[in-house]
Amino acid sequence: MLAGKRALVTGSTSGIGLAVARALKAKGASIVLNGLGDPDEIERLREELDADFKGANLMDPGAIAAMMEEVGVVDVLVNNAGMQHVAPVEDFPPEKWDAILALNLTAAFHTTRLAVPGMKAAGWGRIINTASAHSLAASPFKSAYVATKHAIAGFTKTIALELAEHGVTANCISPGYVWTPLVENQIPDTMAARGMTREEVINDVLLAGQPTKKFVQPEDVGAMAVFLCSQAADNITGANFSMDGGWTAK
Ligand code: NAD
Repeated sequence: MLAGKRALVTGSTSGIGLAVARALKAKGASIVLNGLGDPDEIERLREELDADFKGANLMDPGAIAAMMEEVGVVDVLVNNAGMQHVAPVEDFPPEKWDAILALNLTAAFHTTRLAVPGMKAAGWGRIINTASAHSLAASPFKSAYVATKHAIAGFTKTIALELAEHGVTANCISPGYVWTPLVENQIPDTMAARGMTREEVINDVLLAGQPTKKFVQPEDVGAMAVFLCSQAADNITGANFSMDGGWTAK
């Protein structure tokens, strides 16, 4: 389905981005991985996916420009890299605010503006942004994250309109809690901090807002990304797909 297409997935050395890269690869796309992490592990992933790897720090617009220049034409752009910081607004470190805006929002502007000319020239393209349930609803103490996720949904709708007549679609996927190493690693500390069992942490803390009481699996997000790249999705643009176990239905 995606043979001959090149997909750049940002933040694909771990979690959701890696699952999306694997899913697009399974449909024949050639993959460009991006992200941070252990060089040996990244090399293992690069070999597994027969992929290119670009280690650009996406908080640096100059590094993004250099990466996009090296990669050349991108047919599928998945803006996925993101970070979180949890603190009351009056204690929120300004440098964390700036970092979260740079990674979760501004990086997607730069990759998109640099990928769009090639997509327009090709008359086909897919831009998929990993937003979040927090693009639609807020939680306390996540001011920067929620601001960026609402903003990426607005950005996505805007570029969808701009590109609508060029064969290029732009959509968001908005997961609730996804079972990634990042989430799994929080469980032992939360058990200790709250004096809870593993099951209590999972059900009463992590999944409290997710009515299905089930984590979204990274592979589910990969499958949605594949669908959005399919011909059946040619006329789906500017949409924001919730995959949150009913969180934002409440
Ligand atoms: P993760 O921490 O497992 O992966 C984050 C990826 O981003 C990694 O590959 C990391 O190396 C990369 N990255 C971090 N800083 C970077 C930088 N400065 N430059 C380049 N790459 C950088 O997280 P995840 O859970 O897979 O999250 C991926 C996306 O999904 C994020 O945008 C996140 O907000 C969103 N999301 C996650 C969840 C969840 O529950 N895990 C829910 C909703 C949305």
